[in-house]
Amino acid sequence: MRLVGRESRTERDQPGRLDAGPWPSTFLRTPDGDATLGGVSLCAIAGRFGTPSYVMDETDVRRRARAYKAALPDATIAYAAKAFLCRAMADWIRTEGLSLDVCSGGELALARSVGFPGERIIFHGNAKTPHELHEAVEYGVGRVVLDNLPEIARLAVLVPLGKRQKVLLRIVPDVLAGAHAAIRTGGEGQKFGLSLVSGDAATAVHQVLGQPGLELAGLHCHIGSQITTVEPFQEAARVMVRQLAHIRDTHGVVLPELDLGGGHGIAYLPGDHPLDPRHYAAAVTSTIHDHCTALGLPAPRLTIEPGRAVSGPAGITLYRVIVVKRQGSTTFVAVDGGMSDNPRPSLYGAPYTMSLIGRRTTPIKRRVTVVGRHCESGDVIAENVPMPADIHPGDLIAVAATGAYNHSMASTYNLTTRPPVIAISEGTARLVVRREAPTDLLSREVGL
Ligand SMILES: *Cc1c(COP(=O)(O)O)cnc(C)c1O
Repeated sequence: MRLVGRESRTERDQPGRLDAGPWPSTFLRTPDGDATLGGVSLCAIAGRFGTPSYVMDETDVRRRARAYKAALPDATIAYAAKAFLCRAMADWIRTEGLSLDVCSGGELALARSVGFPGERIIFHGNAKTPHELHEAVEYGVGRVVLDNLPEIARLAVLVPLGKRQKVLLRIVPDVLAGAHAAIRTGGEGQKFGLSLVSGDAATAVHQVLGQPGLELAGLHCHIGSQITTVEPFQEAARVMVRQLAHIRDTHGVVLPELDLGGGHGIAYLPGDHPLDPRHYAAAVTSTIHDHCTALGLPAPRLTIEPGRAVSGPAGITLYRVIVVKRQGSTTFVAVDGGMSDNPRPSLYGAPYTMSLIGRRTTPIKRRVTVVGRHCESGDVIAENVPMPADIHPGDLIAVAATGAYNHSMASTYNLTTRPPVIAISEGTARLVVRREAPTDLLSREVGL
């Protein structure tokens, strides 16, 4: 059986070999029609914790973290918390020795709650509030990534006398990459970063170097998301190394760090080719090395910030089918979740792979559109996907690669309650984030 072979292969050579399609590396179909994740029956999980539920494979997350460390042993690997964060995840990232990117006071508070070391935190954001900057300095975050000119002085006044806050400058390298316009962040004419073209980047370098409370550790860029080839990263690296040389020539300082952001693509569909960390590492480090040599610069210490690539493939969502309805030429399969737990199809037209689990099915397939329960016709999970022709209410559906930007982007639209997060490790499932209850929603209602 194909998936058995995949599992034994992944077990054998620890990090690496995580390129086995959209399902987590420990996902297995069993002959009775069920499926297991990390050795635990998904039917049993649905029975015990209900649906919809996010299921995260801790083993798979840790393997992906280790694969990055193995590919780039001299770099800082900073997991981008916005992809998926809960206390358990922060703890896995901490114990794997990775750093953590946060971009809000909320993410920082969660990191603090598990004692995530401040020096391993990078604080991002294009509109950090003065209060958030204060909290970042107070907790002693290792790097603040400055995104605009006003926050240079705002941050500087918060640093206690005699101390220095390390900062990176987010530069717009004008490299366009990413699966959708909404997640292309490396070009001119979008809201992030300091423009080279307008001169803001040069002004920022000058201003930061003039602030005794700030230490300019290096440059940062993040060109987009769900990028599956290395060339855009190499192009960004070339632009950034040229800027490091330009800063040396202008100011006589050699900045020690270069942060190339995240955006590493994963497989959502069976034929997709994710960005391989080893391929990325080889291509990007040689590009940096060659350009630095040519410009007479020492190679900077590299930081990368994968989010989706660490958590995305490790998670699945379980839904229960509520209704199967034929309307016009389309068969709609409506489930007990939808755009409130996975807004990505309606936001970006993102595709997903799914499978009916929990029973033997007819081998005959028919094309269906899997939709959610929300009051929008755009509330789709996947259009025109093959499902067993005998799909009916009560069936369980597992959706692959929902470990990133699902839990973190979930809403309570229609006052539905957000799903729990179930973590799997060592053959057992445990609840790490409980299901939201209507009383949670009502507890915020403090007046009429
Ligand atoms: C979103 C983001 C990331 C992570 O992006 P992925 O596509 O999840 O890898 C990393 N760095 C910054 C600055 C980001 O905004």
